[in-house]
Amino acid sequence: MTIALDGLPPLRVVLESHGLDPRRALGQNFLLDLNLTGRIARQALPLEGQVVVEVGPGPGGLTRALLSHGAAHVIAIEKDARCLPALHAIADHYPGRLTVVEGDALRIDPSTLTEGPFKIVANLPYNVGTQLLLDWITVPDWPPRWTDLTLMFQKEVAQRIVAGADDDHYGRLGVLCGWRTEAQILFEVSREAFTPPPKVTSAIVQLRPRPDPLLVELGRLERVTAAAFGQRRKMLRQSLKPVGGEALLARAEIEPQRRAETLSVAEFVRLANALDSNALD
Ligand code: SAM
Repeated sequence: MTIALDGLPPLRVVLESHGLDPRRALGQNFLLDLNLTGRIARQALPLEGQVVVEVGPGPGGLTRALLSHGAAHVIAIEKDARCLPALHAIADHYPGRLTVVEGDALRIDPSTLTEGPFKIVANLPYNVGTQLLLDWITVPDWPPRWTDLTLMFQKEVAQRIVAGADDDHYGRLGVLCGWRTEAQILFEVSREAFTPPPKVTSAIVQLRPRPDPLLVELGRLERVTAAAFGQRRKMLRQSLKPVGGEALLARAEIEPQRRAETLSVAEFVRLANALDSNALD
């Protein structure tokens, strides 16, 4: 049998030998090209001495790239039990460096899996990717123990993650990500790179905690962004009426005729901090 550079079977052979026909319900769009998984892993360098949490390893293409690029320990959370034998074969090939956790990543706080700092690298299942990102960036203890996130999303979601004021893609997701992180799109990945190809282009996004944290309670920030972007084409004096309207805008020193999409993340934080507590009920 042919073997890949890392001494393990090619991923197509892994899929066939373990009967891993991709399932849409699990967001299974696999990357079978080890050059591409290597390129993704390199975005998270340095990996030597680092612990990496990977969500959704599937047949293990990205897992193999993380290990062959030197990650000290990969902890991979996979929901689909069919993938476990393939992942255990990788664990045998890299003794003591891969821990496979069978479970639903939505129910697992990655910081419970390891003691020190860690990275998160994943080709996320699209149906739960945004929720996982929100879980990781809204943890109460900040800065978080993760040092950086290197994640695959649909391109349109990636654009919303990195968007700032005056960008068409700017909305609640951009404000939440901008509040806590610095985020950038590193490169796009075409549909054909996946098996099976998804409907749209994808992109790799990297997020790191902001060096200058903006202090505000999450509930407050969510309240103002929901009101402001709920009616994004309206002036703020109109859209923010349910949470304090003109009086709130005056306290935050923001002109009432502005629209949500023109406000910087720092201005949203000012608005959120100026909210009257009875607007939070
Ligand atoms: N990393 C592999 C690759 O790049 O080829 C697979 C990526 S595929 C887009 C998403 C993977 O996440 C699948 O293996 C799927 O079974 C797994 N998955 C889906 N939902 C999950 C969940 N809630 N928790 C953990 N893994 C999940």
